[in-house]
Amino acid sequence: MDTELDLHYRRIRRILILTLVLNWLVALAKILYGLFSRCASITADGFHSLSDGASNIIGIVGINFACRPKDADHPYGHKKYETFFSLGISALLFIIAFNLFQEGIKRLYYPIIPQIDMKSFLVILITLGINLWVMNYEHRQGKVLQSDILISDSLHTKADIFTSLSVIITLVAIKLGYPIFDPIATIIISLFIAWSGYNIAKQSSRVLCDTAPILDVKKIVDIVLGIKGVQACHKIRTRGRSDDICVDLHVQVAPDMHMDNAHKISYAIEETIKRGIPQVTDVVVHMEPKEKLNPLQDKP
Ligand SMILES: [Zn+2]
Ligand SMILES: [Zn+2]
Repeated sequence: MDTELDLHYRRIRRILILTLVLNWLVALAKILYGLFSRCASITADGFHSLSDGASNIIGIVGINFACRPKDADHPYGHKKYETFFSLGISALLFIIAFNLFQEGIKRLYYPIIPQIDMKSFLVILITLGINLWVMNYEHRQGKVLQSDILISDSLHTKADIFTSLSVIITLVAIKLGYPIFDPIATIIISLFIAWSGYNIAKQSSRVLCDTAPILDVKKIVDIVLGIKGVQACHKIRTRGRSDDICVDLHVQVAPDMHMDNAHKISYAIEETIKRGIPQVTDVVVHMEPKEKLNPLQDKP
């Protein structure tokens, strides 16, 4: 069982690494060619492809840590490393975006005429073809392996295709005698990169700031109240990544219930919640007697 899971993760990781390598080759080709032909929008498009690679890296790192079991110094597991790592990636994207934005503004004031010829179009078309192939391949494999990481990553590559198309339009405009389109496209692409940086930061901060991943706790209430012996529950809290949710809650049982029984019930609650909501990986139950007029009892 364990090795089968390992094999599954390893296969996903291999596909992520392959798409990463291809994405980066595409990025490198665009960045170098953009610098060579002094066309800032092609370079910007290259950095945008590079930022697509960023999401692959997050996926690879995430899977590496997801495989790692809980240990003495990380009793809650190692999944938050992925979240932590994402913040670094997002900072990197902001730096890239800022540099491109600056370059675009500079070129608005001090125009540089890029050298556009058939080769420029060829570079964009070939890289676009590779992007399309990668996107299809990743999406197909994601479906076969039932991997959310692969499917969401392949959808992300889609955005890359749109920027490549916009660069083709820009090249045509430059060729027609409007070089101003080069810095404009550069600035727009820099904003796209900043936007994906912002989204990664937002996603990570939700986890790091303990935003409740399950806002509607009715499903948990239903599950808990369905267990024999439970009379009421309250103070339900959830936190963590959407694939690694921790739940804690107060559960009330009959005041004269034997400790043995109460303990069994708390086990049943943990197991049933985890089975009913597979994203839940940790449940802590606080048991208390259901009594009227008990000054020690918590307020609901
Ligand atoms: Zn550890
Ligand atoms: Zn309570």
